[in-house]
Amino acid sequence: MESRKRAEKYVLDSSALIGGINPADLRGESYISPLVERETHRNPMIQARIRCAVEERKLVIRQPSRRSLEKVKEKAQKLGETILSAADLETVALGLDLKEEGDEPILISDDYSVENLCESLKLRYDSLITMGIGRLFKWIYYCPGCGVESLSHGICRVCGTPFKRKPKPTREIRHRGKIMGRE
Ligand SMILES: [Zn+2]
Repeated sequence: MESRKRAEKYVLDSSALIGGINPADLRGESYISPLVERETHRNPMIQARIRCAVEERKLVIRQPSRRSLEKVKEKAQKLGETILSAADLETVALGLDLKEEGDEPILISDDYSVENLCESLKLRYDSLITMGIGRLFKWIYYCPGCGVESLSHGICRVCGTPFKRKPKPTREIRHRGKIMGRE
């Protein structure tokens, strides 16, 4: 039932990137604002991910329109969301831009204020947790016969049994207490 619907578009904030979302792994195209990109400068791994994803055309670094930015600032003020960073505001504005272009982007953020803003602007959003459960793991392949593990699919070289797979949690799933609630 593969329908040829338009690929999903995501807007990521830095909490999404830092929390482990790799744009190259998402099914669809991701967007980040220039300020979000700048916020990740001290993290070489994320920088590398960004570079790769841009090269693979999975990620676009894009400046939001001034109009959307103003709209978002105004809304934030009305909501009393005063601790949002300039990068947060750009991120939400980017979402608005995409929406106005006819897309239904999903904003991915771990920040309640950003989510709150999205809610009031009728932008779709997803928290890292929701994404985390669905996507923030890698598959690990293992042999049900002898227990050998492998990173790729195939047949066990030891005993010839076809591998099965299971999700292997990555350290990225460790979240800042949002899902656990109690630590
Ligand atoms: Zn085996």
